[in-house]
Amino acid sequence: LQTKLPAVGTTIFTVMSTLASEKDAVNLGQGFPDFDCDPKLVGAVTDAMTRGLNQYPPMTGVPVLREAVAAKLQNLHGRSYDAGSEITITAGATQAIITAILAVVHPGDEVIVLEPCYDSYIPNIELAGGIAVRVPLVPGSFRPDFDKIAAAINGKTRAILINSPHNPSATVWSREDMLRLQEILAPTEVLLISDEVYEHMVFDAAQGRVHESAARFPGLAARAFIVSSFGKTYHVTGWKVGYVAAPAALTAEFRKVHQFNVFTVNTPVQHGLAAYMADASPYLDLPVFYQRKRDLFRAGLAKTRFKLLPSEGSYFQCVDISEVSDLGEADFCKWLTTEIGVAAIPLSAFYGNGFDQRVVRFCFSKKDETLNLALERLAKL
Ligand code: PMP
Ligand code: GLN
Repeated sequence: LQTKLPAVGTTIFTVMSTLASEKDAVNLGQGFPDFDCDPKLVGAVTDAMTRGLNQYPPMTGVPVLREAVAAKLQNLHGRSYDAGSEITITAGATQAIITAILAVVHPGDEVIVLEPCYDSYIPNIELAGGIAVRVPLVPGSFRPDFDKIAAAINGKTRAILINSPHNPSATVWSREDMLRLQEILAPTEVLLISDEVYEHMVFDAAQGRVHESAARFPGLAARAFIVSSFGKTYHVTGWKVGYVAAPAALTAEFRKVHQFNVFTVNTPVQHGLAAYMADASPYLDLPVFYQRKRDLFRAGLAKTRFKLLPSEGSYFQCVDISEVSDLGEADFCKWLTTEIGVAAIPLSAFYGNGFDQRVVRFCFSKKDETLNLALERLAKL
């Protein structure tokens, strides 16, 4: 059998989570909370099940959830999306991203990705027959290099994929960044896939940092699939429900693929999420919740020889390992899991060519006691 994805093996998240559980290590690798979601949310879902909402929902998602998403986008970003023709509920952000790519990328089209990037993007583009054009974020700062982005655009460029707050670097794009992207794309027909799964985890609001959704910029919104995930926002990564918001013409193409690669998404979970979203406070309170965990974790790491990189958003903290070890990132993560009992993810996993810059990623979406146990173990380094 000739493989369609010769460069792809098992994802780093599976590899590190398996090793962490074999070695009984504290798993700060794969990004998922080790605490439970709000019991009210579980109640809302079980209530939907009890009410018999257990059969196929509409292909596009249940109307009440699409309306709740549209209302949120309007309230937070001032853009009106039509719940009927512009919002689709997906099986997590993963399915939203591959579906958007399959819907618009033709064989031979180029799609720009900014490296490091989430590990599904490049294989998704290749499965569509497209060519991933990898533009590096500035090494060290992980800021976008707009000259390089502009230079990568040509007549074959179909789309660009961006992700803010960013996995793995935890950087957040500013308003100026988004305006610059809008300016570069203005004379082109390049589409935008904006992965905003960490939209509600942006820190240091006191310093003026906010999530600059593509929805806020007319020239971007008009060409954008905006993707998010309820898994991240409500501490339910295992439920695998997300959404995509896009102008009606793009949504129509998206749905042509969506109806054949998943058709539709878990009914009671959609109803439960819709009821729960009537209260905005859970997502409005999320930055403060995670900023406290970030600060706790950073304060502990500051006592080690790891060099801390900024964590502006998401639930990740990257560290430079140069002072701690001579190992490459991937070997270091295996060593750390096996010998120290803390799992992390090497940044090289987020580069198409495995670029090693001696940086690893920790996830701090954990109970304080888990973070404290990890810090106790890391204190030796
Ligand atoms: N994009 C990014 C940047 C992510 O970090 C993740 C989750 N790890 C996803 C997409 C996928 O989200 P979901 O679990 O909703 O499919
Ligand atoms: N998004 C999560 C992370 O970056 C993991 C998702 C997955 O396991 N595929 O850690």
